[in-house]
Amino acid sequence: MSRKLTVYNTLTRRKEEFVPLNPPLVGLYVCGPTVYGDPHLGHARPAITFDLLFRYLQISGYRVRYVRNITDVGHLENDADEGEDKIAKKARLEQLEPMEIAHHYTVRYHDAMRELNVLSPSIEPHASGHIIEQIEFVKKILENGYAYESNGSVYFDVEKYDRDHRYGKLSGRILDDMMSGTRDLDGQGDKRSPYDFALWKKASPEHIMRWPSPWGEGFPGWHMECSAMSTKYLGQTFDIHGGGMDLMFPHHECEIAQNTAADGRDAARYWMHNNMITINGQKMGKSLGNFITLAEMFSGAHKALDQAYSPMTIRFFILQAHYRSTLDFSNEALKAAEKGLDRLMKAVETLGKLTPSAGSTVDVSDLESRFAEAMDDDLNSPLVIAALFDWVRIINQIYEGQQSISAADLDALRATVKRIVTDTLGLRDEKAADTNDMLPPLVEMLLDIRIRAKADKDWATSDAIRDRMTAAGIRIKDRKDGGYDWEIE
Ligand code: ZN
Repeated sequence: MSRKLTVYNTLTRRKEEFVPLNPPLVGLYVCGPTVYGDPHLGHARPAITFDLLFRYLQISGYRVRYVRNITDVGHLENDADEGEDKIAKKARLEQLEPMEIAHHYTVRYHDAMRELNVLSPSIEPHASGHIIEQIEFVKKILENGYAYESNGSVYFDVEKYDRDHRYGKLSGRILDDMMSGTRDLDGQGDKRSPYDFALWKKASPEHIMRWPSPWGEGFPGWHMECSAMSTKYLGQTFDIHGGGMDLMFPHHECEIAQNTAADGRDAARYWMHNNMITINGQKMGKSLGNFITLAEMFSGAHKALDQAYSPMTIRFFILQAHYRSTLDFSNEALKAAEKGLDRLMKAVETLGKLTPSAGSTVDVSDLESRFAEAMDDDLNSPLVIAALFDWVRIINQIYEGQQSISAADLDALRATVKRIVTDTLGLRDEKAADTNDMLPPLVEMLLDIRIRAKADKDWATSDAIRDRMTAAGIRIKDRKDGGYDWEIE
């Protein structure tokens, strides 16, 4: 491969050339959802960002082992290892088994991902299915002296770790600064220091999700699953770890500390983080009344929404921004994205109808090179979309006869557009998908009869076909060359 993909590595805070450890294989780990509620907008952005990376790596000739986990245990209500398990709480409120909750929302998540055309990862491990691996990982950290047992729980010794390595290198936080900013330097409960975090938590008598361990009955700390499962499926060192920026601290910071404490080194070589979504300039949150699930987005059933927005509109909207920029959802911005996507998809359809000329007045290599250059520069999808829109204009000009394209160039352009729009951006024509497959041949059969009727000067038949099709919502446009175009209104 002559081209070089560069990605912004959060760990080094700069763009770096991406060089995989064992090409052509690329190991990619992304933190997936905690399955205790309906998937919402906040789930769409990391899923689509890393779907773009997954697709583009494959387009670039890599074989990607993409692991995205499902958190179904251990994610407590706050980051200080306190509060109820999110899934157990929902189960208690709804009088269901925790695994019923986890299963229900995993299915809901998969449904939403399918609608968004997010490809399935290669492996989707569940935290509850990897308790043994997590216990083994905790044992290793204990043996290496970076954790301590306290009253049936095991905590990570952040201060000791920080003396030997450095705690906070991903987020840029410095432990001494964090500690001097805290008034209470005593440990909390069983912890020696408030910065220590749970690797294993003792289960209180009412806690439902519990497993036996060398330290008594309990459950793993939330950060532990990602260390244990990424190591299991991708090895002690792997290529890329991704997730939302909100996970950088403490979740990813703790993952790095756990891996280093167990194996003496970092696991992931490149850390990639997508930025967050705001709604009308505000952070999304249940208390602000702007918490919108993906199902509500697709149906329009939320008071903050003027209308329904299709899955492809959401996907296109997210891809219009660079993944490291903030992205603000508003009705205006979404309506603009809907229009833009419609224009793009119409041009893709027009491209299928173009007829070649003897020569070309257009340079089709321009689109391919702008696409590769933008994607190789840290997945710059907005620049890819800008190049596409320049070509929307050119495609329409060719169609109108203002430009011409040779047969070989037309084939190349169709292949490039497919590689960009369908394979990389993952956009599909929702209108076409909605149309029954039998409709186009039937419409075209009627329109062919109409053309014959016109040639025979049978105006009654030709007008009747036109009127009845218009009444059925099909708009016909006669072309100068004697052919026709049609679309559903
Ligand atoms: Zn994780």
